[in-house]
Amino acid sequence: MERVVILGAGESGTGSAVLAKQKGCQVFVSDYGTIRDRYREILNSESILWEEGKHTESEVLSASEIIKSPGIKENAPIVVAAREKGIPVISEIEFAARYTDAVKICVTGSNGKTTVTNLIYHMMKRAGKRVAMTGNVGNSFAMAVAKGGVDYFVIELSSFQLDGMYDFRAEVAIMMNITPDHLDRYGYDFQNYVDSKFRIARNQTKSDYFIYWADDPVVDKELRRKEMGATLLAFSDVRSDNMTAYIKDNNLTINLNNTKTDLMTIHDLALKGRHNTYNSMAAAIAGKLLNIKNDVIRESLVDFKGVEHRLEPVIRVSGINFINDSKATNVNSTWYALECMTTKVVWIVGGIDKGNNYSELFQVVAEKVKAIVCLGRDNRNIVDAFTGKVATIVETTSMKEAVRSAYYLAGKGDTVLLSPACASFDLFGNYEERGREFKAAVRNL
Ligand code: ADP
Repeated sequence: MERVVILGAGESGTGSAVLAKQKGCQVFVSDYGTIRDRYREILNSESILWEEGKHTESEVLSASEIIKSPGIKENAPIVVAAREKGIPVISEIEFAARYTDAVKICVTGSNGKTTVTNLIYHMMKRAGKRVAMTGNVGNSFAMAVAKGGVDYFVIELSSFQLDGMYDFRAEVAIMMNITPDHLDRYGYDFQNYVDSKFRIARNQTKSDYFIYWADDPVVDKELRRKEMGATLLAFSDVRSDNMTAYIKDNNLTINLNNTKTDLMTIHDLALKGRHNTYNSMAAAIAGKLLNIKNDVIRESLVDFKGVEHRLEPVIRVSGINFINDSKATNVNSTWYALECMTTKVVWIVGGIDKGNNYSELFQVVAEKVKAIVCLGRDNRNIVDAFTGKVATIVETTSMKEAVRSAYYLAGKGDTVLLSPACASFDLFGNYEERGREFKAAVRNL
């Protein structure tokens, strides 16, 4: 019998354990930290053996295969030991894909993954398809495979999940963009991160599709030197030649198999901003590939509600518009947020800086930002970067203080934008908590 050991008992680990058990494997779950109650209950109810607060080597290294949760680093001693022993270490996604024949629509990129994944899911639901939304969005793919009953999976894939994928094949892969992120886990070598992202296209053949943003310089460079098995479908908002989706005279057009569909004007898209036009184009191509009717694609792009913490409108107070973009944890996503602002902005920024290059923001900040409110333990990099470029820079260390300062600095008709360009862990548990505190502080004004 195959002995499967799962490292990490969070969402993906617990799902993997349930699926492995269902498929008749001998299963053991090992978590170095504390297992959350709800996962412990699932493991117990399925009579799955587990340990927490340690990795017992004899238990773990007797595995025929190890499923590693994406949060566990490659250099964790137990992972190093497993590799030394030649035990295959794979991701939940690789494991679970062996047990399903459903069509897998996979979304990756540095930014936009969750938005596009949700958009496609929304579209497919509306079209009446039997579909589950899984992966990095927060729902285990393995658990959904164990449950069964669907014909399609929309799967958000992070680079960490892709790292543990070998034989997996995506029928539809979507590459939104690649910009520097998570370099701390890739030996500070950008190419390692790029290679990891491109694993989404491994094993694809001509009957599979690779949808990508044509104007991303990093993706473009890779495509020139890589052999791609899939049929390539590109989208762009600045050119139409050879594009499967493009914008002309503000109309979103799809050109698939030499059939042109004038889908809709971009003014009707629910999600505003240039980056969201890319997201809508990617989703529309996927919808066409899956034979969803034009009307349904259009309606889904019009009535999509957006995802919390992504350019989420909060409320207007004294004529000042407050927007929560807490999920912007890198410079690129903040660039797009600032770029689509149509008023003067008081910008709340800061947190844990993963090696940001703020000069990419200089131009857009000069055009839009009237004041900066730093929110973080250590704001030196931000203050250094923008001193002399923005007249007012204040430093704060709590959300309440940041929102009060921003409110004071903003005038009628301005926007207060929380788009931190940094991770949240210095002052908050995660970006969701940061976003919720922002909204609460705004409502308290
Ligand atoms: P991910 O799941 O890849 O982190 P999200 O959809 O959660 O992406 O969005 C993360 C952040 O990036 C948000 O601040 C959002 O406004 C911004 N964003 C969304 N789509 C894009 C895109 N296509 N390009 C750049 N930034 C984007």
